[in-house]
Amino acid sequence: MTMLTPLPDPVFASIGFVFGLLVGSFANVCISRLPKKESVVFPGSHCPSCNAGIRATDNIPIVSYLILKGQCRSCGQPISAIYPAIEMITGLLMASVFYKFGLSWECLIFAIVVPALVIITAIDIEHQIIPDVITLPGIVLGLAAGTYLNGFWNSLIGCLLGGGLFLLLAEVYFKLRNTVGMGGGDIKYIAAAGALLGWIQVLLVIFIGALAGAIFGAIGMSFKKLDFLSKIPFGPFLALATLISIFFGNDILSLYLSTMGMER
Ligand SMILES: [Zn+2]
Repeated sequence: MTMLTPLPDPVFASIGFVFGLLVGSFANVCISRLPKKESVVFPGSHCPSCNAGIRATDNIPIVSYLILKGQCRSCGQPISAIYPAIEMITGLLMASVFYKFGLSWECLIFAIVVPALVIITAIDIEHQIIPDVITLPGIVLGLAAGTYLNGFWNSLIGCLLGGGLFLLLAEVYFKLRNTVGMGGGDIKYIAAAGALLGWIQVLLVIFIGALAGAIFGAIGMSFKKLDFLSKIPFGPFLALATLISIFFGNDILSLYLSTMGMER
């Protein structure tokens, strides 16, 4: 369904990279403000140490960080390297979206989804929450985009299957352990991902997410940094699994079905 791009792909991908850097800069604002329920529009960016406003010319992704040598122009306090890292990651992911999907509706859809995944990952690592302000609109937009991508019923079943499985898992865990294992944020997240990707790919997301989480947990335990009762946020693994599914989901499923002797 991908339309031909009037520009050669590497050029289009480069435009995606620069666009992604700018979106990444906005993602940083969302990451620091959404958990505090602050507006992401007003006031403009300010230094977390001295509160001085940041001029537009000091707010150029990556470049400003390098020019200012990672320090605030007003107070000289170090600025976390997380900020340029988020910009770079968003830039690279956006370049990948532009490269893979070309000038198409898919490109627009995933150009919105990918920064949301970056924001969710960063917020879940820092605060152990996935904000409703992302997941609830995500379910509605996921159903709309999923209907375009895979048809309405596939999208709706994906939403209900993903959300339903996680709700069930959360209930069972709560009954067994008498403590909350899976948060409501994870349930709403997987409902949104299921709406976007459809019922087959949401199962793939859950499988890859659980596998990645288990590998991470096993590595953590072998280095004695984690034990069985450690709370690890699940959101980053689900976001990673969603990214893998967006870029390689069809290839993985084709490979799986062909090894099972079935054609797709
Ligand atoms: Zn400052």
